[in-house]
Amino acid sequence: MKKKSDKAKKGYVFIAGAGPGDPELLTLKAVRALQDADVILYDDLVTSAIIDQFGGLKIYTGKRKDSHHFEQDAINEEIARHALEGKTVVRLKGGDPFVFGRGGEEIDVLRKYGIDYEIIPGITAAHGASAYSEIPLTMRKVSSSVAFCTGHPVNKIQVPDADTLVYYMVASSVHEVLDAVVKKGRPEETKVAIVQNATRYNQRVWTGTLGELRRKERAAYSPALLIIGENINQFIENNWFSRKKKVLTGDADPRRYSSREWLVVNFPCRRVDEADRDRLEESISNVADYPVLFFPNRFAVKYFFTYLMEFNRDVRHLANCTICTLGRPAATELQKYGIIADLALEPDSPSDIAIRLKERAITGKKVLLPGSNLVDGYLMNELSALGNTVTPLSVYLHGQQEQEESIDLEFIDEIFFSSSTCVKNFSSLYRTIPAGITVTTADSDTETEYCRLFGKRT
Ligand code: SAH
Repeated sequence: MKKKSDKAKKGYVFIAGAGPGDPELLTLKAVRALQDADVILYDDLVTSAIIDQFGGLKIYTGKRKDSHHFEQDAINEEIARHALEGKTVVRLKGGDPFVFGRGGEEIDVLRKYGIDYEIIPGITAAHGASAYSEIPLTMRKVSSSVAFCTGHPVNKIQVPDADTLVYYMVASSVHEVLDAVVKKGRPEETKVAIVQNATRYNQRVWTGTLGELRRKERAAYSPALLIIGENINQFIENNWFSRKKKVLTGDADPRRYSSREWLVVNFPCRRVDEADRDRLEESISNVADYPVLFFPNRFAVKYFFTYLMEFNRDVRHLANCTICTLGRPAATELQKYGIIADLALEPDSPSDIAIRLKERAITGKKVLLPGSNLVDGYLMNELSALGNTVTPLSVYLHGQQEQEESIDLEFIDEIFFSSSTCVKNFSSLYRTIPAGITVTTADSDTETEYCRLFGKRT
């Protein structure tokens, strides 16, 4: 589906590091790129506190268990696809893109397509963990070398000959790493630290000896780093970062909570990411130009009709379209809008798709394909192979749900409610507020709402 004009419109890609979590550890350069971005493709490790600050089309490419597995190849192609449409794309990765970040593979693809790009380094997790837990990575007379290593995959664990070892990706392989380190001759008394959620409000540091950690059953939760070396003797429980009190708030006056004393944690933002509205409006206004409308799944139907109505159109505007669905859920969803699919295809017999499309004379036509921001390459190929011109239309964002993170109140010292809406939103997420947390409200309305929902203060 490459048009001749693509070359003239080639976009630009920033492969940028987001740092380990604290939004203030973004570089100025990354911030500028993010402000300019039409599309941001971000990883699991990029926190919502960062991503919520920027506009543009946001695409989550994480690999959480409960979500669609986004293979690296698909991510690479997705980056290229947007750039080839002339967009400014930021590929935002946790930490630094070139430290266990697969940035190298992504630029390979960009080079292949001849897309212009640049790389913005980020603060890698080891540096974040080191600074925020007060464990220097090197120290005169104690440690004069440091190595970054990976605990994944377990059969590739290496133990370099460095004074300080920092292992990434250890959540499920701490014991394997420790065994390998012992095998290499490091004594059981060697100091080790686990730093979880480094630089974030919920950072947790555990320190002990190699032997102690080996005897612990569950050693780390992701994301976590394992640091090994005598430099860990520098660690103190009451370090500069753990001393800060944490206030959870929507938008508190920054003067109220000075950054010397406080770490401001923002309420998880429930804003639903918008699809690309301009494109949507244009395609929906011209929907009658498409003789074929193809819904690849139920969500495509649901969101397409939401937008159809939003832009003041209804089913009558689809009167002349041949409407196809893939899978029973999509066909059923369509009936809710009073439409019986002209062609209801079944995904489990993919070889039939081309035959059935041909039977219905869906050949050489203009096809509108609403769906997620991730276009189904297989469908595109099948439709295009029959001479159709396919226009994908993103009506919802893949993986939008996975983004919602709830705040772990265990780490919070104070909650500041700036308005009654804020209290309401909070109560939809949390039923109670743990006793140790101080609650402050901005004004009497907010206070009244707070008492209504959480009970009178004693
Ligand atoms: N490019 C990233 C690393 C990606 S690999 C970087 O430079 O930091 C993913 C691993 O990074 C995780 O398994 C974990 O070991 C580590 N990591 C990333 N963010 C972290 C954080 N905030 N705290 C602790 N470890 C982190």
